[in-house]
Amino acid sequence: MIVMKFGGSSVADAERIRHVASIIKAYKDKRPIVVLSAMGDTTDHLLAAADEAVAGRVDISCVETLHRQTAAALGLGEKALKDTESLLCELHALLTGISMIRELTKRTRDYLVSFGERLSVRIAAAFLEQEGVPARFYDAWDAGFISDSAFMNAELCDEVWNTIPEALAAYKNGTQKEIPFVTGFIAKDKKGNITTLGRGGSDLTATMLGAALGAEEIQTWKDVDGILTADPRIVAQAKTVPLVTYEEAAELAYFGAQILHPRSMAPCRKAGIPVRVKNSYNIDFKGSLVVEKHEGELSPVRAITAVKNSTLIDIVSTRMLGASGFLAHIFNLFLKRDISIDVIATSEVSVSLTVNTGADLSGLVEDLRGIAETQVKTNRSIVTLICDAAHSSSILASAFAALAKENINPEMISQGASKVNVSLVCANNLADKTVRTLHAAFFE
Ligand code: ASP
Ligand code: MG
Repeated sequence: MIVMKFGGSSVADAERIRHVASIIKAYKDKRPIVVLSAMGDTTDHLLAAADEAVAGRVDISCVETLHRQTAAALGLGEKALKDTESLLCELHALLTGISMIRELTKRTRDYLVSFGERLSVRIAAAFLEQEGVPARFYDAWDAGFISDSAFMNAELCDEVWNTIPEALAAYKNGTQKEIPFVTGFIAKDKKGNITTLGRGGSDLTATMLGAALGAEEIQTWKDVDGILTADPRIVAQAKTVPLVTYEEAAELAYFGAQILHPRSMAPCRKAGIPVRVKNSYNIDFKGSLVVEKHEGELSPVRAITAVKNSTLIDIVSTRMLGASGFLAHIFNLFLKRDISIDVIATSEVSVSLTVNTGADLSGLVEDLRGIAETQVKTNRSIVTLICDAAHSSSILASAFAALAKENINPEMISQGASKVNVSLVCANNLADKTVRTLHAAFFE
């Protein structure tokens, strides 16, 4: 048995759903369990409609039109049309309610965005059925997905390791021959409220399913050739990374490669289930395999990522030279203002760190005034080498030799504790050049 996950762009319209159906059919003998995201940008549209409703306007026509047109274009039968219409009707009623009370809690927002995935599985399962392959849709909670109540970013409860295999036992042991289509991204808390697992959370649904059911493989289908050595929009020569570890894949996600949800690696790692990232436009291509450990000789650098629009803060202690508690004090100030730190490098008396642009830093800088000199530098990028840090000195040597030749001087360097990343900070306008230079040094 395998799990096959398709993201929003893979099911964006009728044509793409036909294509996905043909891929699923090709894997029929592997007894796939399918996980789908909402069609195209539906999640964004639902969130936008929610904001409009709070302002008193109800308009969900783009979501309605997309799903109605898709259902019609796929020639779906009466049952599927009715399922779709009843959800669209509930969605409209919910938005009307929000527009009347002009208030939107996180709980209601999750209820609202859940319609995207619930619609997509109904349409796709009905289409497969119509193509002669028995299929059935599942809302995640009917497949054992229970989460905590942290709306908009819920964690799955440990019980799911039991509730998922219980709910889907017939698929695990192969007695049930239909292909199940499970909604990605959503769950229910113990009180029965709908929750969501954070943006991009369908990856987590897929890996959790595969892990709990002991699948042979979890496939996530994209529209590029798997995990690439760099963003192909920046580096035309980017190529597929054949093998990465779970740890490297998580690190890649944290550092901006939008290929797998960072939290999605935990369950498959625990269960030791391989994840394969495949290209829906290049079905026979192997793609990238994510596993616990590499075998054989590989290049020490796996991939290069860039996260743009970060802010670099240099903090130099004026008072606390040698005193204990300097870092504790600084970190507490960040905690107090709920500012999250991304990359950090320290010395005895100074700290450089990056935070997301958009964080309000005025209060923080004020707080720091008595104890440190602070410089805030905006428009910075974090360029990260995902690599085997056992070779960090030779990697850094090659990296700096290449950067020096191009006259690029990073403003900060940090090696992560997980030993699979080395990050550099540079100005936004140097980020692409930095990535290209490093890519050329390690891969071309
Ligand atoms: N539809 C959700 C989102 O856009 C979940 C996902 O695509 O994984 O974030
Ligand atoms: Mg999506």
